[in-house]
Amino acid sequence: MAETESGENAIQVCVRVRPLNNRERDEGHRTCVVLDEETKQVVLTAVDKNTLLQLRGSSAKGYAFDRRYDQNDISDMIYDDCIAQLVEKVFKGYNGTVMAYGQTGSGKTHTMSGGAGIHGKVEEGITPRVIRHVFSVVDSLNKRAKVGEKVEISAYALELYNEDLLDLSSKSGRAEELSKGWDASKGAAGGLKLTERPVGKDGRVVPEVIGVKEMKCETADDLKKFYDECMENRSTTSTKLNDRSSRSHAIFTVNVHRTMVDVLNEVGDDMKARVRTSEFTSKLHLVDLAGSERVKRSGVVGKELKEAANINGGLLVLGNVIVALSSEADGKKKGHVPYRDSKLTRLLQDSLGGNSLTVLISCISPSESDFEETNNTLKYANRACHI
Ligand code: ADP
Ligand code: MG
Repeated sequence: MAETESGENAIQVCVRVRPLNNRERDEGHRTCVVLDEETKQVVLTAVDKNTLLQLRGSSAKGYAFDRRYDQNDISDMIYDDCIAQLVEKVFKGYNGTVMAYGQTGSGKTHTMSGGAGIHGKVEEGITPRVIRHVFSVVDSLNKRAKVGEKVEISAYALELYNEDLLDLSSKSGRAEELSKGWDASKGAAGGLKLTERPVGKDGRVVPEVIGVKEMKCETADDLKKFYDECMENRSTTSTKLNDRSSRSHAIFTVNVHRTMVDVLNEVGDDMKARVRTSEFTSKLHLVDLAGSERVKRSGVVGKELKEAANINGGLLVLGNVIVALSSEADGKKKGHVPYRDSKLTRLLQDSLGGNSLTVLISCISPSESDFEETNNTLKYANRACHI
């Protein structure tokens, strides 16, 4: 497993199975996902003959993951197991990324943002929890801050649709785009520019989004309000543009700026203790990824249909980047990490791998009607995991 310098897994992959929904129940679909306690695997069982035929012998597939959550496990558990420590690390200077992956309807938004679930039980998502946690750390740091020390929080929200970056905080900007008849093939008139700023001498770069609104937040309520507004903008636009949210990535980034003061074990000419001031900015990306389903072009049949089935380009590159990073960290030969092949990975490049922490939550449907997509999701996540 890939590890950071301090020994934790740099990339953690977990699987979350949502409950069967009413439609699936009404249509008589059964559950095809089994979390095997003994082998710690997620096992897919093909239950009907048609599914078996489609799969040609690849039924009853088992995949191993770092962590598995079934429909009775709530997001509290996921938070405590994988996310809480990541938040603490961000205050120590690490970058982090939490991503929800899976087909449309598998529970990505439910996991990241929360809401009333299938059984009507309201659950708090990962991001609102992160927001509360971030400010509880800020409060405790402020309580024991030395003179000159401070910690500041800011955030921005982006939507990445095809290769266009949009600011989710700006309602007016988006309304304007919509009224101009936004054309995905031409790109957004108001699309933001992504650049890279070199830092240090080792060729490292920090991605920068030119013109994105970075909101300074003093309290958890400020940050939560900003987040809610941004997500509201996402869903409003999505409804107008034919459920675009399933095809776009939403990236909410929390920045932690810290100034720290070390009192050195020596005194200056003025007989006062010498101090050393240091500062850093680290970021935590909370990403609700685009639906991973293969988009089938209409009017194509047979073998061509299979070839036309297309996964979102950003997700494909993301998978390749994660695989390259985990084999690198496993001590295998240092390969090429294809960050530059998509805007998603360019944007996240300093927050994936290296000395940053990544949690990939693969969301899956339990329904046998989603067997193929679930199998694809597990395959994707398993490549990133390779235990
Ligand atoms: P996605 O964002 O992947 O398209 P959603 O998060 O919108 O999927 O989930 C689809 C539906 O299933 C929503 O109504 C959501 O509330 C519900 N749902 C998803 N995951 C769970 C879960 N773990 N528990 C209860 N309900 C869930
Ligand atoms: Mg969603």
